[in-house]
Amino acid sequence: MTGMTSSARPLLNRRLAAFGTTIFAEMSALALRTGAINLGQGFPDTDGPEEIREAAVRALREGRGNQYPPGPGVPELRAAITAHQERRYGLSYDPDSEVLVTAGATEAVAAALLALVEPGDEVVALEPYYDSYAACIAMAGGTRVPVTLRPHEGSFRLDLDELRAAVTDRTRLLLVNTPHNPTGTVLTRAELRAIAELAVERDLLVITDEVYEHLVFDAAEHVPLATFPGMRERTVSIGSAGKTFSFTGWKVGWITSTAELVTAVRSAKQFLTYVASGPFQYAIAEALRMPDSYFEEFRADMRAKRELLAGGLEQAGFTVFRPAGTYFITADIRPLDESDGIAFCRSLPERCGVVAIPNAVFYDHRQQGAPFVRFAFCKRTSVLEEAASRLKSLAT
Ligand SMILES: *Cc1c(COP(=O)(O)O)cnc(C)c1O
Repeated sequence: MTGMTSSARPLLNRRLAAFGTTIFAEMSALALRTGAINLGQGFPDTDGPEEIREAAVRALREGRGNQYPPGPGVPELRAAITAHQERRYGLSYDPDSEVLVTAGATEAVAAALLALVEPGDEVVALEPYYDSYAACIAMAGGTRVPVTLRPHEGSFRLDLDELRAAVTDRTRLLLVNTPHNPTGTVLTRAELRAIAELAVERDLLVITDEVYEHLVFDAAEHVPLATFPGMRERTVSIGSAGKTFSFTGWKVGWITSTAELVTAVRSAKQFLTYVASGPFQYAIAEALRMPDSYFEEFRADMRAKRELLAGGLEQAGFTVFRPAGTYFITADIRPLDESDGIAFCRSLPERCGVVAIPNAVFYDHRQQGAPFVRFAFCKRTSVLEEAASRLKSLAT
């Protein structure tokens, strides 16, 4: 934990002291030590399209992006982002003033919160949270107000009355994530419309993390919040190449919003990384222009992986919440006579050689998430088959 100086004042400041080390570090170390299959952290175990890797090599060799790229991002990428938003969603943004390229969605979230939140402002966010949200709200001096997604008929649902009740006179913004990590929930058009109406009525800003926009399955549909009436002018939409193109190490993310909001977010972003990922920005510009068939095949492939892991987890005895989006499955451990997901995940590598993440770490009130654990299925089929077969030993 935190070291002490001679005056016994903790080194880590009060805003961050509660957060400690992320669970991913602990669980990945455990995976290494035990040789377990790591279904904890959500990164693919195969790289994205070969031609996009080659595009990065070409950019690097040709000296494109090896020095500081422009602050807002390279023009080719900004144009590709706006073309993608227009083509898929009919949302039009000016590539010069309404787009900002960031060091992944992580920096986009951080910069947006640091730019838009005053100390004391309340930020309403869907719980369980992606792990950086709570820390970034704290760094911005804001107060987080969780609205919990609760299990209901096989998925985790948002209670709109609870959401409305969470908004006070001190609420500055709503932080939304759909498709939602870790639950796999994809907010429906009706839910999104209600969120939009609330934001307009209470004059709130909205940050929407849509990094899994291309990972929706079956009948689920990803609808950007910015497409609803009154929303474009109050919404900061966040995207990322990491999840969509399986290059999580490249850290190319972006926001699209109004010129005023982009300028505000850039004010914070310029003092975080200033710029990042030069040559990769050129490669992702090409990636965003890939034909629809790429996105369809990617989705079909991930859907098959979801089925494989979900089936394995069911056979092992878990209750499975089949995700409508993302590449995570949340499972309930109670049918296995377990109730503490943190203890369960700490023991799972020894018991059967698989690593998962306890959802409790994504909750303010850990008890609410205690019986749920998260498995990533963005892994090779052979790895998922082996994991499924190892997990079966839990059933006996
Ligand atoms: C992975 C993830 C991010 C971070 O994306 P990067 O582009 O890798 O920084 C942000 N939000 C959610 C919900 C994620 O799952």
